[in-house]
Amino acid sequence: MGPPASPGFYVSRAVALLLAGLAAALLLALAVLASLYGHCARVPPSELRDRGAPAAAPSLPGQQEPTAQPGPTPEPDVAATRRYRRPPGPWDQLRLPPWLVPLHYELELWPRLRPRDLSASALRFTGRVNITVRCTAATARLLLHSLFLDCESAEVRGPLSPDAGDASAGRVSVVERWFAVDMQYLVLELGDALQPGSLYELQLGFSGAVSQDTREGLFLNLYTDQGERRALLASQMEPTFARNVFPCFDEPALKATFNITIIHHPRYVALSNMPKLSQSEKEDVNRSTWTVTTFHTTPHMPTYLAAFVVCDYEHISRIERGKEIRIWARKDAIADGNADFALNITGPIFSFLEDLFNISYPLPKTDIIALPTFDNRAMENWGLLTFDESLLLLQPNDKLTEKKIMIFYIVSHEIGHQWFGNLVTMNWWNNIWLNEGFASYFEFGIINHFNPKLPRNEIFFSNILHGVLREDHALVSRAVSMKVESFTETNEINELFDLFTYNKGASLARMLASFLNEKIFISALKSYLETFSYSNAEQDDLWRHFQMAIDHQSKILLPTTVKSIMDSWTQQSGFPVITLNVSTGVMKQEPFYLGKVKNQTLLTHNDTWIIPILWIKNGTTQSLVWLDKSSKVFPEMQVSDSDHDWVILNLNVTGYYRVNYDKLGWKKLNQQLEKDPKAIPVIHRLQLVDDAFSLSKNDYIEIETALDLTKYLAEEDEIIVWHAVLMNLVTRDLVSDVNNHDIYPLLKKYLLKRLISIWNTYSTIIRENVTALQEDYLALISLEKVFGTACWLGLEDCLQLSRELFRNWMNHPENEIPNPIKNVILCYGIALGNDKEWDFLLKIYNNNTKEEERIQLAYAMSCSKDPWILNRYMDYAITVSPFTFNETNVIEAVAASEVGRYVAKDFLINNWQAVSERYGTQSLVTLLYVIGRTISTESQILELQQFCSNMLEEHQRLTVQAKLQTIKNENLKNKERSARIVAWLRKNT
Ligand SMILES: [Zn+2]
Repeated sequence: MGPPASPGFYVSRAVALLLAGLAAALLLALAVLASLYGHCARVPPSELRDRGAPAAAPSLPGQQEPTAQPGPTPEPDVAATRRYRRPPGPWDQLRLPPWLVPLHYELELWPRLRPRDLSASALRFTGRVNITVRCTAATARLLLHSLFLDCESAEVRGPLSPDAGDASAGRVSVVERWFAVDMQYLVLELGDALQPGSLYELQLGFSGAVSQDTREGLFLNLYTDQGERRALLASQMEPTFARNVFPCFDEPALKATFNITIIHHPRYVALSNMPKLSQSEKEDVNRSTWTVTTFHTTPHMPTYLAAFVVCDYEHISRIERGKEIRIWARKDAIADGNADFALNITGPIFSFLEDLFNISYPLPKTDIIALPTFDNRAMENWGLLTFDESLLLLQPNDKLTEKKIMIFYIVSHEIGHQWFGNLVTMNWWNNIWLNEGFASYFEFGIINHFNPKLPRNEIFFSNILHGVLREDHALVSRAVSMKVESFTETNEINELFDLFTYNKGASLARMLASFLNEKIFISALKSYLETFSYSNAEQDDLWRHFQMAIDHQSKILLPTTVKSIMDSWTQQSGFPVITLNVSTGVMKQEPFYLGKVKNQTLLTHNDTWIIPILWIKNGTTQSLVWLDKSSKVFPEMQVSDSDHDWVILNLNVTGYYRVNYDKLGWKKLNQQLEKDPKAIPVIHRLQLVDDAFSLSKNDYIEIETALDLTKYLAEEDEIIVWHAVLMNLVTRDLVSDVNNHDIYPLLKKYLLKRLISIWNTYSTIIRENVTALQEDYLALISLEKVFGTACWLGLEDCLQLSRELFRNWMNHPENEIPNPIKNVILCYGIALGNDKEWDFLLKIYNNNTKEEERIQLAYAMSCSKDPWILNRYMDYAITVSPFTFNETNVIEAVAASEVGRYVAKDFLINNWQAVSERYGTQSLVTLLYVIGRTISTESQILELQQFCSNMLEEHQRLTVQAKLQTIKNENLKNKERSARIVAWLRKNT
């Protein structure tokens, strides 16, 4: 699947904006996530749950009449409901019993979607599946996955003679069928045991509901095209939703071939993994005509890669190495050329990977479809890739955004899966990182091949590494590769699609590539892919192929086996902090904890990592060394106080760890930065800032050590380094804290002096040659923070630019505000203006239908500094219609803005009933966190508690109270830190 939305590159502008607007962003996000997860918990409908308390059937011993005659087969006798508790059995296990191995599916699906009937209430599908299985152990009980499906018929034929399709095969009676809902099984109790070594065919008729509000299983999208409402159906099976569409053996190692048939309305086209084989017509009972489209047989593949689409779309196509690639999208989008970019890059990416691995893409075609609404960003279904259209289609006004590069990354990721995941699949979900980590890693190799000018290391750092290092730590987070036994529920499989699987997985693949070399790395992967094609692999299989590649050469020597090295990274959580004492050359490692734990003997995390250390001394790359125990001496890394040497560990930041130095080591780096910063490569300036601030925040080093690294910034002309500094120094909490009067003037003086040079560079580009930004990816992702800070610090030219661009846009709305700084300009345009500007924005808002832009405008309107305008805004929100079809919580946006907190609090006191009716009571809880984000005393908590006593239920009050305590403690800690920053700034301005 596509990578999860994460801070950094993949975060959409709307989400970024949303987050930027929220001061207590982290707490809030956690609260929101918690509530989302709550909503998403897949509790089966009660009626299905009832069926789970299984129905017993009168048994029909010995019913074994042959079923050779054509015509409708008799309905098996599944009886009326009689409830009792089942004894413990295989249906209590998450994993299927190994008694049956599926070989082939004949699957027919018939969703009743009609173009003229889009009311879509209770849209259903029916289906039939015949599954050929090999029995491996005698059993009279069959388990297969099925969820939310009604099973309408179930028969078992066999044993089949070796040449399948034997019509004279016998029948094994099904005496009972029932659902074990907890583990999502359909259980068939048979009259006779199946015989090991024999083949059987399970014939099942079923029906189910098309998902309306989740994008799981077979789901509906409603959208507008060519001015009219339309609908399409698409599927999402990964990881465990194939069972929502047809009864199946829904585990990744149970690969089989599929013959798929889709029955659909003649106006629609049906797509699946393979090309169309034939088409015919059939009539339903109402004499309506339906089209029957059948597809060629798939290669061996897991159920999670099966895919279907029924749509009324247009497509464009090209041929790459004799195979057709088609991009499907809304007809409007195709006509506007929005799919052209994706089509142009897809073929070359396929060819590049075919050549790299020397393995041809085995399917005869590729369809890529742009879905109007899709939760998973993108999905790599073999031969039928599904994308959220915002991540595949490039619109003309996307030019000045990072979108083009983002599409390149995501398309590369999904095509990478055609090898990593589709051709070779992990044995089970515990090693999903073998799919996602390598697909994510190869995104960078691919994009670097086609765009060699892009700064590869800096982008990897910003998009992948930075985000996961911030979340990963030894105590709480999970290991990349988990033990199968640690899974007990299906939900846990869904939760694996996170930062660790994607970002840490990609980072570990990159580290492995860095301490081998590209040639060995690729040749090991080639042999792994060849060996396990159409099959499944464990993590150890991968390491074995790397070991073979190592053993075949003599240039690279490792301290131990590849498995030992990599297990130390994939099988434990967190990562190490390495500290180098440059006076003695002693290097030691310790696990990284959020907020360094003082008494580490209490901790159970005793393990060490086997750490490859690539390093540089005075700008020259040194040979690789290994830290394979808790500490070791490296005399070659010694530096004396008198000489000018400096040492940086973790060359190009290819290692998955943070680096600390002793006082002298940091001092040397600092001196070098002040003397000649360019002698230290950009990626390492980025690393020094990020490591130092993270280590200081978590009590590994003093905050002053990190601040010292910012003294040279007047000479820093790389915007990505500025971005890193400002993200650490000018935090959202600081910006929205009106009590920042001690730090603000000092920071203003200190930073503006240094910021002016980079400001001049980029403000000139914005004013004179904005299109030049198109090729400057790092600027596209950094400008908002840099410009936002400049305006926040009151840089007159920044305020002037905001007035200028906003006014220009008001007079000529066709003159778009440059996208990378649009949030800043809108916000300061409103903050510096009056009701004229505000009313103009409201008008634009009312005429805008794009959700993402509406959110952006809604937040900009909360930037006003006039209390009456903010009050009127909130009043509109709870009374006037435009805001009702937008999910932006306006009260929250105002509360999170620079001056809006007190205004929002008063407003809430007077209108809490209306606010709670408009946004729900849970929004009141969130609002209290936003309003209380700067509290630091008990009396402030008391005040807020009294404030909420009318508004909230008892359990909500308790939650709020606990959360406010946490916020208070966090704020007290920040205050100490802030006081030290103030003292340091006094000394240094
Ligand atoms: Zn993926």
